[in-house]
Amino acid sequence: MNLQPNSRQFWGPWPYQPSQPLIIAGPCSAESREQVMNVGESLKANGKVSLFRAGVWKPRTRPGSFEGIGVNALPWLVEMKEATGLPFIIEVGQPSHVEAALNAGADAVWIGARTTVNPFYMAELAEALRGSQLPVAVKNPIHADMGLWLGALERLEAAGLEHLAAVHRGFFASHSAPYRNDPMWELTFELRREAPETPIFCDPSHIAGKRNLVHHVAQIALDLGMEGLMVETHPDPDSALSDADQQVTPQGLHDILDDLRLRSEQLSLEAIADLITPERNALDQVDSQLVELMLERKHLVQALAEVKASHGASIFQMDRWFEILQKRGQQAEAIGLDKAYIEQLFQVVHKYSVEQQTKVYDQSRHPS
Ligand code: PEP
Ligand code: MN
Repeated sequence: MNLQPNSRQFWGPWPYQPSQPLIIAGPCSAESREQVMNVGESLKANGKVSLFRAGVWKPRTRPGSFEGIGVNALPWLVEMKEATGLPFIIEVGQPSHVEAALNAGADAVWIGARTTVNPFYMAELAEALRGSQLPVAVKNPIHADMGLWLGALERLEAAGLEHLAAVHRGFFASHSAPYRNDPMWELTFELRREAPETPIFCDPSHIAGKRNLVHHVAQIALDLGMEGLMVETHPDPDSALSDADQQVTPQGLHDILDDLRLRSEQLSLEAIADLITPERNALDQVDSQLVELMLERKHLVQALAEVKASHGASIFQMDRWFEILQKRGQQAEAIGLDKAYIEQLFQVVHKYSVEQQTKVYDQSRHPS
């Protein structure tokens, strides 16, 4: 058994490893000199925080909300850094922000979810950052478009930036309860597959949207192997000018970090490979049976479609579809399976079934 912890890795000058995720914390927005100094001192005292975050220019979805202090907040961050030794990271959304960040001596920058979505902005930011070697963290785009997230990272890489990280802050969804944003954890696996060298930090604050869920989301992120956390922290969250519901106090952050289960405290999966082999093999068998059952289902669907086509019936029969969904949902519930999970699965199964039936209909109309 190999019980060695994974080797230490770096994003810019900041190390991270499984037992020590990189912690970035600070207010959603820099609001006043006092607020910045207050949080900076608390985070310094915390000892686990590597980097202070604060939004200086706030990209708000709708006008009329607090849009940040702007360049006038930069001297507060510089002063906080001088007083505490904590480096700072700010959000940049346009080349003038990059210039101001570089002039102020920002230690890193992040690109927000509303900027990652736009390849024009990303190209401009990559040019503005070229040659700086600043560490850059790229938040996922608001919607679940992997191409935009990867494309933003690739544009920065092509501009010669070497210290890139991704920040997972969840995705807009009309149904994201209990969270503000849908985590769609599977997309972080996809990013990992496409960009295995890029560390992924989780922003549990923007995913959760409520401070009492931040710990829960952060724990899932670490259990899934993410390399760091960015947590919004404010001395008096309820009076915050932006994202009041999701910010935690420095004490709240302290409690969350203290309570998180870190990966090195468990055996790594590689280390326990021998122990999990029987379950893994059994799972492989079940998965293989599932695939074969799917083939059987496909053949039945095709046969059904041929009968329907020969009688001119329509492919999609709403009542039947509702019946399937309801029956399988009820069956799932009755035997202790999550109803929503089975319903989601059947959405995919049904979509494929309609595709198969469409093919049969096309062939019956235009036999080759
Ligand atoms: C933020 O970090 O405060 C922010 C604006 O986040 P996002 O771009 O993820 O919405
Ligand atoms: Mn915020």
